[in-house]
Amino acid sequence: MKKLNKKLVFFFIALMIISSALSFIPSAIYYNKGAIKEIKQNQQSIAISILELRQKTDLSVEEIVKIMSNFMQNIYIIEDIDFMEISNDDVNRIKNQEIVFLSNSQKHTATTIFMLDGFYIGIGLYPHDSIFNMVASRVVLTLLCYVGIGAVLIIVSANRVVRPIIRLSGATQEVAKGNFDIQIENNSKDEVGKLIDNFNKMTKELKSIEYLRKDFISSVSHEFKTPVASIQGFAKLLQNNDLTEEERQEYTQIIIEETSRMSKLSSNILNLSRLENQEMIGNKTVFSLDEQIRKSILLLEPEWSKKNIEFDIELDSVQFKGDEELLQQVWLNLLSNAIKFSYENGIITVRLYEIGSVVKVKISDTGVGMSEEVQERIFEKFYKEDSAHSFEGSGLGLSLVKRIVDLCGGKIYVKSSLGRGSTFTIELTMME
Ligand code: ADP
Repeated sequence: MKKLNKKLVFFFIALMIISSALSFIPSAIYYNKGAIKEIKQNQQSIAISILELRQKTDLSVEEIVKIMSNFMQNIYIIEDIDFMEISNDDVNRIKNQEIVFLSNSQKHTATTIFMLDGFYIGIGLYPHDSIFNMVASRVVLTLLCYVGIGAVLIIVSANRVVRPIIRLSGATQEVAKGNFDIQIENNSKDEVGKLIDNFNKMTKELKSIEYLRKDFISSVSHEFKTPVASIQGFAKLLQNNDLTEEERQEYTQIIIEETSRMSKLSSNILNLSRLENQEMIGNKTVFSLDEQIRKSILLLEPEWSKKNIEFDIELDSVQFKGDEELLQQVWLNLLSNAIKFSYENGIITVRLYEIGSVVKVKISDTGVGMSEEVQERIFEKFYKEDSAHSFEGSGLGLSLVKRIVDLCGGKIYVKSSLGRGSTFTIELTMME
């Protein structure tokens, strides 16, 4: 038997013994009353039988006493009634041919006395068989049966209770070794069942985190490998003394662009990891949200003017309390995506509404749009739709946006259709 099983069985048996011992006294008191009543009836019916036997037969009193004695009740002739502790009242009643029942709760005795042919006849329990002994033996027998049957049932059922816990313990050891593939079968809905359900959920989560971690490392290395290889290649070309001035300019320009791409990438990774470790917004100030959005559009002017993109802007005047710098990153990322994925001469619509305590920002473009599958994955780190590889970007922008919006306690939605454009909606709640 396993340790936990033994503990459980021992605990329950000890519990049953203690509860039996404690319930002995109240049960004995309860049964005692019933037992006196039962003895009284028994003795009275013996007395009546003795009287009838005397009437119907020629048997002597001594013979009748002998015949009627049984293993429960002792029947005897009382030599001298005056030596007995009986009240005068009771003596008179006996003398008046009454069958008198006398019980003494302190001495645990119960006796019936009556007269037969001038003899006093006593019917009482044998000295070794007091009322207490009688009741106690019955109660003890019941309690022993209770403990015995209970113990057998507990030994059988302890296994059932302990089995899932033992399985869980084995599974946690597997998780500690790094095996997240483990799942425990579970059909029960009780607390242990819930524990197993949560354990299964936990291993699934751990598995996906482990997968994300591995995926993250491979994505980071991949993103760095490409610019490093290109820098290395162009630096080697620059070592050639026969290059024209034009070629030298072109190669150094490429190296400058690649290094700035790497620097952007690493600051995005650092930013994201900092935000992921952050639990809440710390640096809160009150600022004008509409002004911040307008400023963000102006900052991106070189990009949108290159593509001749027009803006349709309608912004409520909103004073918002939050982290100004982080929210600026949200608008810059969403707007630069809208510009990046817009066609030439496209229109970008920007709206800001304040509805009660909710602030809604909508940024829509008329660009390339996304399929349903792409929309489901855009907030994943390093996710770029295949055809988006022709656009510059590391696939971290929207992960950053999502993390910031989550930290602000807000929501972000996307609606998009391929070839028609996309709309990103952000809902933020005004805080006091
Ligand atoms: P990136 O820095 O590569 O733009 P993001 O995380 O910002 O990365 O975006 C992830 C992907 O989501 C993009 O590669 C693109 O496929 C898709 N996407 C984001 N914004 C838009 C948009 N406005 N229109 C179409 N596709 C978009």
